[in-house]
Amino acid sequence: MKWLIIGGGIHGTYLANLLMHQPDLTPEDIGVLDPHDTLLAAWNRMTTNCGMRFLRSPATHHIDLPILSIYRFAKTPEGQSLADFIPPYNRPSLPLFRAHSARVIARKGIAQRHIQDRALTMRRDGRRFIVETTRGPLRTRRVLLAIGMSDQPCWPSWANRLRREGAPITHVFEPTFHPQDAAANGPTVVVGGGITAAQTALSLATNPRADVVLIARRALQESQFDFNPCWIGPKCLRRFYQEDYDTRRTTIDKARLPGSLPGEVLKAFEQACISTRLAFRPSAIREAVLTNGTIRLRTENGLIEAHRIVLATGFRQERPGGRFVDRLIKDFGLPCNPCGYPIVGKDLQWGENIYVTGPLAELQVGPCARNIVGARNAGRLLMASLAAE
Ligand SMILES: Cc1cc2nc3c(=O)[nH]c(=O)nc-3n(C[C@H](O)[C@H](O)[C@H](O)COP(=O)(O)OP(=O)(O)OC[C@H]3O[C@@H](n4cnc5c(N)ncnc54)[C@H](O)[C@@H]3O)c2cc1C
Repeated sequence: MKWLIIGGGIHGTYLANLLMHQPDLTPEDIGVLDPHDTLLAAWNRMTTNCGMRFLRSPATHHIDLPILSIYRFAKTPEGQSLADFIPPYNRPSLPLFRAHSARVIARKGIAQRHIQDRALTMRRDGRRFIVETTRGPLRTRRVLLAIGMSDQPCWPSWANRLRREGAPITHVFEPTFHPQDAAANGPTVVVGGGITAAQTALSLATNPRADVVLIARRALQESQFDFNPCWIGPKCLRRFYQEDYDTRRTTIDKARLPGSLPGEVLKAFEQACISTRLAFRPSAIREAVLTNGTIRLRTENGLIEAHRIVLATGFRQERPGGRFVDRLIKDFGLPCNPCGYPIVGKDLQWGENIYVTGPLAELQVGPCARNIVGARNAGRLLMASLAAE
């Protein structure tokens, strides 16, 4: 293999598609290693679990190469019945985005490049790498780490303790979460203050028998995007590239707006608070106790009882990749900023022939690195560096 992409999410799949279009590469030169049954499995799971209906990003952000590909797909017999966009910025429905992604994957044969396994360790062998998986070694000339956040849902410490005690608590992004389970009789408390929390609460509240309470630390914040779109292009990035890595970290943390939600989700949420048994309690959780199967949450504004808790608390913000990436850093002497994230050049090379995208590339790609458009921007940097070789 010439390229092994580790991670088959939005980033890994888009970059596989991009590499498969390069004239000097054949499909057999590329592999996408991911432990799930299918490519995009983590994306599909997370977006289903939270009841997402429309993407937050515009229709031009997707996994195909031509920028207008979703629009074209929406006019085909296959896409026509799913053609559904909402303003502003023509955001596609989730079913349309999914069907388009499946079409792109099928058309280019990207699923045939999927190797279902997990990278455990990696070592150099002459001009190649040997990546160890549970099923044996894979040999490759180059590696692209496309490891996102989906393997690390955030469990606050009180929630972890409740889980150990056997309480009915789950995280909306866990594979074990089933929306219908969470809507069983008795109050369900959703914890979190962003788009995922609001969508999850909304989708649970569609069950007419469900009592759903959303608890967030503060009032819900409206914002169309989770970062200012100027971060996609040179307008904001020019200055970013002049900053040192510590300042870039501060800039990214300031620019990203986790815990915000677009207007239409906020409106639907407020409407459901009037018309269904959905309630909103802005309050910090001080203590959580499990007694006789019921969870009692002591908040700064009083006691709330829950028969179930669904966490919509996003991801742990630590560098993704766990022990696999920790070992790579040690074995290959890869440089990291004090925040733990990779220091990579404009060619996205972390070490010789070790490339990154997604959160691992954020000190280079900037505040949009984790999003779909971050994959497209990473692809542009990667192609520029390959063309210069
Ligand atoms: C609910 C939700 C909605 C979102 N909506 C939008 C949106 O509308 N627009 C937008 O731009 N962004 C959106 N995002 C943000 C972002 O685009 C997505 O999270 C996207 O799925 C990130 O893709 P990824 O490929 O970086 O990571 P992931 O989806 O996490 O994929 C990485 C893959 O790598 C695998 N992996 C990890 N370690 C290894 C290993 N050692 N070996 C092999 N494989 C490994 C993982 O199992 C996983 O399958 C959304 C995120 C969420 C959670």
